[in-house]
Amino acid sequence: MAHIIGDECVKCGLCVPACPLEIISEGESKYVIDGDKCIDCGACAGACPVGAPKPE
Ligand code: SF4
Repeated sequence: MAHIIGDECVKCGLCVPACPLEIISEGESKYVIDGDKCIDCGACAGACPVGAPKPE
């Protein structure tokens, strides 16, 4: 299981330093989580002001 960043993402970048695995990167229209490495800790969801990262 992994977290996925939804279209609510406003590209603020606050989730990037929140991820202990440093697997969030900037994509075209939103930030993207490397789903192969995500351990579903939820830290990104806690840091996001618009609730974009959600459990898969
Ligand atoms: Fe990183 Fe945890 Fe978010 Fe997965 S759930 S992307 S490991 S902060």
